[in-house]
Amino acid sequence: MKGEKLIKSVGSKTEEHEFYTPFPQGYKIGRTKYVVITGTVMSGLGKGIFSSSLAKVLQDYGLNCTPIKFDGYLNVDAGTLNPYRHGEVFVLDDGLECDMDLGTYERFLDKNLCEKNYLTGGKIFKRILYRERGGKYLGRDVQFIPHVTGEIKLFLRELAIDSKADVIFIEVGGTVGDIENAYFIEAMRQLAYEEGKENVSFVTLTYVLEPGFLGEQKSKAAQLGIRSLMSLGIQPDIIACRSNNPVTKKVREKISIYANIPFERVVSVHDVDSIYNIPGLVQKAGIDKEIIKILGLEKKIKKNTKAIKQWKNYVQRMKNKDNTITIGITGKYTGLRDSYASIIKALEHAGTYYKTKVNIKWIETTEIEDGKLNIIDALADVDGVIVPGGFGKRGAEGKISCIKFIRDNNIPFLGICYGFQMAVIEFARNVCGLKNANSTEIDDNTKHPVIDILPEQKEIEGLGGNMKLGGHNIEVKKGTLAYELFKSTKVRMRFRHRFEVNPEYIELLERSGMIFSGKAPNQPIMQILEIKKHRYFIATQAHPCFTSRPLRPQPLFLGLVKAALDQKKK
Ligand code: GLN
Repeated sequence: MKGEKLIKSVGSKTEEHEFYTPFPQGYKIGRTKYVVITGTVMSGLGKGIFSSSLAKVLQDYGLNCTPIKFDGYLNVDAGTLNPYRHGEVFVLDDGLECDMDLGTYERFLDKNLCEKNYLTGGKIFKRILYRERGGKYLGRDVQFIPHVTGEIKLFLRELAIDSKADVIFIEVGGTVGDIENAYFIEAMRQLAYEEGKENVSFVTLTYVLEPGFLGEQKSKAAQLGIRSLMSLGIQPDIIACRSNNPVTKKVREKISIYANIPFERVVSVHDVDSIYNIPGLVQKAGIDKEIIKILGLEKKIKKNTKAIKQWKNYVQRMKNKDNTITIGITGKYTGLRDSYASIIKALEHAGTYYKTKVNIKWIETTEIEDGKLNIIDALADVDGVIVPGGFGKRGAEGKISCIKFIRDNNIPFLGICYGFQMAVIEFARNVCGLKNANSTEIDDNTKHPVIDILPEQKEIEGLGGNMKLGGHNIEVKKGTLAYELFKSTKVRMRFRHRFEVNPEYIELLERSGMIFSGKAPNQPIMQILEIKKHRYFIATQAHPCFTSRPLRPQPLFLGLVKAALDQKKK
């Protein structure tokens, strides 16, 4: 396993003692500081957004900040998770499929993360079992303490070495008291002891209730949550109280007494209009200053005034919108907005660039198939449409019908991954005249498999293998809409798919007017398509939404918003 050689196993030379604290080579205590973020009372407090905001503030002070998320699931990564239950599966440039919180970190910090920034229960146990089979535990029975906790700390310290971070933000998924994250929390207790109090700080998010029938804030649930953290041997340094309204002085005082924390370190992180205001709130509450004090980072700080100003401008621009457009999104997970988190964000970034509020209209394409929803009604009030990624048959025919309507009626369109494949099928059927053309994902026996698993993918498939994942370069053809948007012949986007345009049909599709404006370098793999004489009709096999950032909106989304705005003005 990678990194195996790096390990100098302090304390694992003999089975005579109980320590297991391997350190990667070159690790120096105190070089990297840690901020551990836990949640109490309930899940869904927005730990990821809070932690991203705090990291963003410290990054703008010139510190090298990197996050890591601990997830208690026994899944090795998020690849097999259903977005309906867990929200979108986010894909990193190195191909890791992970929790959507990593998308939040990438967007806030405007930097690419990697496999080392995500640790699930499954991943840690896989590592441990691999070592155990290799006899690396020298005859010891492998235990939660010290081995599981030891491996967690090792993973963290490897991240410290790799990222050269000044501060690592550790988000412990779930709520204190869960069985799933108990060993992560225990590892953090040990970390604080080994690294020293001046190098590890604990921030806990809690929730202050305000029941409507009482009309006042109540701190008991928060107190109990904090108590359960303390019973695990962790003394929080800062308590961030989530609530609807600003948390009252009285409640903060109660929590302060209860948790042995100075009043100024019990802060209110109440709801605000936009998540982009949270870095501002973190500063206003003084959390940044307290962390700097606790970790002794004063001397390292050098404010990046340009970055601070850029962020402020973005937040300002978000508030001042001149126009409104409506973008329709077709999809089968329309019940759960989290499954399209990155698309929603990418629209927000592009909308803010054009000072435009983007409303979203969800279109359930199964209803089009069942005849419950008429396409004209479904698309009547939209200024543009996105057909996003997806898997399986359900709703596919409805999507294909929508794309036909969009193509015939000059409605701005962006197809993403599955949406790209649906656009090829629609074109093959209705322009090339290939009746019943389809993807073999939908119909294994189709006469015209215009979308198919490529031979090399089939081989991988045979080995029980997987999807094409992660960032890949795309060659963009000059003189096309794609080139106009990207202003470059070389772009990089992230992928997560198994099926592709069947090379046998490329020539026919092109002859009939489909333009493949982006493809894999030196391979007949089509990755961007467009058609002429249309206001905006473009699709990509990639997921452009994963690389859109507030200050660097993704060009395909910018193009869609612009085209929708133009169409609305006409
Ligand atoms: N189901 C399609 C494939 O596997 C598209 C995947 C996606 O949209 N992410 O190729």
